[in-house]
Amino acid sequence: MVYQLNNVSVKYSNRTAVKNISCTIEEGKWISVIGQTGAGKSTFVQVLKGLITNIDGDYLIDQRPVKRDAKGQLMVIPEIGFVFQYPEHQLFETTVFKELVFAPKQQGWSHQQISKSISNVLPLLGLAEDILPLAPFQLSGGQKRRVAIASVLMMNPQLLIVDEPTAGLDPVSKAALLQLLKKWQQQESRTIIFVSHQMDDVAEYSDEVIVFHKGCLVKQLDTRTLFLEQ
Ligand code: ADP
Ligand code: ADP
Repeated sequence: MVYQLNNVSVKYSNRTAVKNISCTIEEGKWISVIGQTGAGKSTFVQVLKGLITNIDGDYLIDQRPVKRDAKGQLMVIPEIGFVFQYPEHQLFETTVFKELVFAPKQQGWSHQQISKSISNVLPLLGLAEDILPLAPFQLSGGQKRRVAIASVLMMNPQLLIVDEPTAGLDPVSKAALLQLLKKWQQQESRTIIFVSHQMDDVAEYSDEVIVFHKGCLVKQLDTRTLFLEQ
């Protein structure tokens, strides 16, 4: 699927968070989003997921306008997986198992479908089955993040948004997580939108980079071009 924003602006009360954003997100790429704190990165990824209901401008998926509700507000886009910056903001069940099955159960999946998805997702994230009965609070920081991502991958999203997924991880866990994400993205030919401050990770893993500055999307270019320009 191709996701396209045309001249999108978002205001919080009367303050503009992003203005006149236009971009196209294509399939099968790792796209990093960089920029200073407050530049609009987080607002941008929330717009893509449909979490910000009131936007000016157009949002198209495969050339068709995204659905709006009766009040004209955008709706959450189920094909996009969204992993919050802090896993504590999304892990709220008493066991890892319950965490993984939460969304599929809401969608009315059968036990068979759920088990199949669990057996796909655990090895993708380097997790073993013995983690299933544990409580999220018993896990290490790296395991929590992998469980948060696993619970989002259960639904087999076309596009995965991860906001600073390596914040607070030691270098070994960080590299392991990024390599697992890269493997998923390449094997399944899926898209990752990776919000990061870590330029070395951006250079190493991404195909494309989107640069935000003071609420504007100032550049979208391939990673090689960006790093050769500097
Ligand atoms: P980044 O992710 O690059 O740090 P954000 O998208 O979070 O940037 O923020 C863009 C601008 O919008 C900033 O000026 C920020 O202060 C403002 N902003 C973000 N979230 C809110 C909010 N919920 N209410 C009011 N202003 C906000
Ligand atoms: P129900 O919706 O019928 O109450 P559960 O959500 O308890 O079912 O479990 C769904 C399926 O997953 C069942 O087949 C159950 O045996 C299995 N299961 C439950 N807990 C775990 C666990 N911690 N690890 C692995 N499988 C589990």
